[in-house]
Amino acid sequence: MTYEVKSLNEECGVFGIWGHPDAAKLTYFGLHSLQHRGQEGAGILSNDHGQLKRHRDMGLLSEVFREPANLDKLTGTGAIGHVRYATAGEASVDNIQPFLFRFHDMQFGLAHNGNLTNAESLKQELEQRGAIFSATSDSEILAHLIRRSHNPNLMGKIKEALSLVKGGFAYLLLFEDKLIAALDPNGFRPLSIGKMANGAVVVSSETCAFEVIGAEWIRDVKPGEIVIIDDNGIQYDSYTNDTQLAICSMEYIYFARPDSNIHGVNVHTARKRMGAQLAREFKHEADIVVGVPNSSLSAAMGFAEESGLPNEMGLIKNQYTQRTFIQPTQELREQGVRMKLSAVSGVVKGKRVVMIDDSIVRGTTSRRIVQLLKEAGATEVHVAIGSPALAYPCFYGIDIQTRQELIAANHTVEETCQIIGADSLTYLSIDGLINSIGIETDAPNGGLCVAYFDGDYPTPLYDYEEEYRRSLGDKTSFYK
Ligand code: SF4
Repeated sequence: MTYEVKSLNEECGVFGIWGHPDAAKLTYFGLHSLQHRGQEGAGILSNDHGQLKRHRDMGLLSEVFREPANLDKLTGTGAIGHVRYATAGEASVDNIQPFLFRFHDMQFGLAHNGNLTNAESLKQELEQRGAIFSATSDSEILAHLIRRSHNPNLMGKIKEALSLVKGGFAYLLLFEDKLIAALDPNGFRPLSIGKMANGAVVVSSETCAFEVIGAEWIRDVKPGEIVIIDDNGIQYDSYTNDTQLAICSMEYIYFARPDSNIHGVNVHTARKRMGAQLAREFKHEADIVVGVPNSSLSAAMGFAEESGLPNEMGLIKNQYTQRTFIQPTQELREQGVRMKLSAVSGVVKGKRVVMIDDSIVRGTTSRRIVQLLKEAGATEVHVAIGSPALAYPCFYGIDIQTRQELIAANHTVEETCQIIGADSLTYLSIDGLINSIGIETDAPNGGLCVAYFDGDYPTPLYDYEEEYRRSLGDKTSFYK
């Protein structure tokens, strides 16, 4: 579904480059491919012979850099950039990244994708020791930890700081003489490294950014790894050996662009396999398959191929409506669905439709789409979801952090089906999801985090633990 209506949002996208005369411009194009990961604000920080320059603001990338001068002033051969969707910290320009820290003896920039689970306790501790935070997001914490470390060398300081922050994080740090990328010990968020023809090294949340700038993928950053990029090339190091891959399965289901590859798996192909598996688990009679544009179209293709039903364009997305994610009320959100989607009566009229969507969050959007299809003449609407039911909150970088918001946390499948007005509701099984993605790894759950679905978090929840336990009440698990 459209990112905004569903209110299921990635925290951010990051992009960095070292060793190219057009570093900031290439960062702009890289970020442009990552815009789906955050539309609230954007920024680029460049490095011109050790001088760090920055422009950032609220809005889409094209709005932030509407004035060419804002990009032209970012000279230099190294840069990092960021597109933001806020999960932690309020919507304000102070929270737009990259952050820039200037000290009497050094300066560096920072861009972060993810969510720290011990941010509150670290922040309190740091403030008690005199630290002053300029933003309300959790992304500044690492910079304070680096600066306050007593380790005598910079890499030692960075490693120490990285071992203190917990949760999901992909960091890019731009220093006067190097670019550093680091990933959390579970690799919750994706981060890939590429190379350009002139030898410049690029780092991106998603590989789709490499295509745009003509870079070649080298490899993905591993959990617990630090990648140091400077004029001598790339160096791989780690700050912990206690690692286990648990990449966010929602990246494959919903967030990442279909043309991105994550840990050797193409996102579109994974979605097609999810759709095919969903068809095998689906138990109803139908005439046509209709995917909800855009992120469910790959799964709809897989479902149609496997089931032998025709894959029809029964829903059209209006590409030119205003972003609606800033609309606060439920009523406006519901209106937002109508602005974005139309059912094609000539296609669905008189048909039993299998409506494929990637997930159900609150149920509002699904109810509206079912209604649209029925109003357009569909005789039956069977909703088939290309992921298991979202019954638990995420603490690693997705913006739903309370169970009350999730329809599946509070209702059975039958109740949910009734609420959304469908004739049947089928979710993909957790095993079906894991097998469909198929990362080559020995890690549990096929190297995926599936905590959204089973509540089995790969790490302690630190500051969120108590609140989460309280929210569980007597409903300990949706599946058990
Ligand atoms: S809890 Fe869900 S959204 Fe969060 S990292 Fe795990 S799979 Fe992704």
